[in-house]
Amino acid sequence: MGITGQILKLRNMNVEKLKQARLDRQWRAQTTAPFIGDVYKDLKTVRVDVEVTFKNAVLRSSSVKEWGCDLTPSDRLYLHCECTNKDCTGEGFDLTSVLQKALATRSCIEGEMFCNGKEDWKYIRSVGCSCMTCLKYKIDPQFTSTL
Ligand SMILES: [Zn+2]
Repeated sequence: MGITGQILKLRNMNVEKLKQARLDRQWRAQTTAPFIGDVYKDLKTVRVDVEVTFKNAVLRSSSVKEWGCDLTPSDRLYLHCECTNKDCTGEGFDLTSVLQKALATRSCIEGEMFCNGKEDWKYIRSVGCSCMTCLKYKIDPQFTSTL
């Protein structure tokens, strides 16, 4: 194996390490979050709808993925959505703070956020080359009683 091969191998190993660390962080955040029903006793359900649009600058294409779920009181107060760009260096979309706000204000919150990652691991130290994935969300909590 030449020098280039060794460098490539090392680089790939670091990427795998970084990806694993990212998974570990998400797993810890999820498993340490409180249950929604423990914090909001009168919560019935939270309807979550997201639409993730990934624009690929190289292929000049875009893909849209829609996803929805209903959170119940026995779910964790944690909401995370993966970036649909499989080469993304970012942390995905952390919707936990939006979920917290929707619950605390007992209201439906809609908005959008952009990915915080780079488009590919090879751009990890580059300026620009940001991942172009955009996520639209709608988080709508339903309570059994009204204030
Ligand atoms: Zn991304």
